[in-house]
Amino acid sequence: MVWDVSKIRSDFPILSRTVNDQPLVYLDNGASSQKPRVVIDAIEKAYSQEYANVHRGLHFLSNLATDKYETVRGIVAKFLGVADEDEIILNSGTTEGINMVAYGWAMNTMQPGDEIVLSIMEHHANIVPWHFLRERYGIVLKWVDVDIVGNLDPQAMLDAITPRTRLIAVTHLSNVLGTKVDVKSICQGAALKGVPVLIDGSQGAVHMPVDISDIGCDFYAITGHKLCGPSGSGAIYVKKERMVEMRPFIGGGDMIREVHRDSVIYNNPPHLFEAGTPGIVQTIGLGVALDYMMSLGMDKIAAYETEIAEYADEELNALNWLNVQGHAPDKGAIFSFTMDGAGHAHDISTILDKKGIAVRAGQHCAGPLMDHLGINASCRASFAFYNTKQEVDALVDGLRLANDLLS
Ligand code: PLP
Repeated sequence: MVWDVSKIRSDFPILSRTVNDQPLVYLDNGASSQKPRVVIDAIEKAYSQEYANVHRGLHFLSNLATDKYETVRGIVAKFLGVADEDEIILNSGTTEGINMVAYGWAMNTMQPGDEIVLSIMEHHANIVPWHFLRERYGIVLKWVDVDIVGNLDPQAMLDAITPRTRLIAVTHLSNVLGTKVDVKSICQGAALKGVPVLIDGSQGAVHMPVDISDIGCDFYAITGHKLCGPSGSGAIYVKKERMVEMRPFIGGGDMIREVHRDSVIYNNPPHLFEAGTPGIVQTIGLGVALDYMMSLGMDKIAAYETEIAEYADEELNALNWLNVQGHAPDKGAIFSFTMDGAGHAHDISTILDKKGIAVRAGQHCAGPLMDHLGINASCRASFAFYNTKQEVDALVDGLRLANDLLS
């Protein structure tokens, strides 16, 4: 496959800097991706040439900013394979998106004793909002484990459905194990039983093409800062049928038509769910980032990352003192690991940092999965389409050094 990785790297100014006098090896993409020049320039232009508040103004700049902002709704729809852009709610990221579903939809439609099915490998953003419902409204959380290699059997999710199940909430790609979830099978099976499905696409949408018209989910949340866009940007797809069941969970300007002493007339969806001044420039930056990724081709990004994942899988698993968590077939380029008898994940990450290698260490906001794996913390190297096989080699060298120093 032709993938000119050095040309792509030159789009990202930060990738040519050094850290601790070493070339930066940025392997913390699961936490946040780096930004290409086009996004940085778009942010600069939005603030220096085109800035005003959106939606409420009649003047030139407000109209311009509104156009730029609203265009992003269509870009997100295209990126996610959604025909009707009114099914896209713009927001600050996945955390806000899932909380909106919990407060705006679930709280409005569920009764005490109703159940939500979750996989054990969810990120806290797709757990804690449901815990709020458990604590405050008596909603029951049902957990489905992954198997020994970290695979999630779609049938196991469907088998957990009972007459009280009101939602399945599942990740598209695990931020710890790299497991890709067969969300389409889950959605097909759940639809037969009338159970809506929410997909946390924070990682999935970054690493593979997403076509919601094919997947058939009810909710799909993305977060901009992992998609080469600014932090504080994001979106959630909400199927029309679910949107009409949803009530706004944040009230304020923009989501209303009229407000009187004793009454409110609300705006139409999706604006009904976008109260207050939004992240205007962040959202404009998100649009540019998604256009950039689509211009590279999400299928090509996925194919290149598969090459990187296969190479990293081979190299890391060859280190017999390294315990890689997650061996699901066709896993994404995310590798979490601990070392036999060696120091804490924080020590490993600190040694790697001295070599200019950025990885994450800790629980990765996945407490239930860490309990399931029986570990307190791990290191995580997460790759993007601008990483190289040489950077895998640099990671392996850094890990050898860490193993020498810590064991
Ligand atoms: N879900 C997954 C799988 C993630 O990896 C993350 C971020 O790490 C989130 C949700 C939360 O995203 P954000 O904090 O941008 O809302």
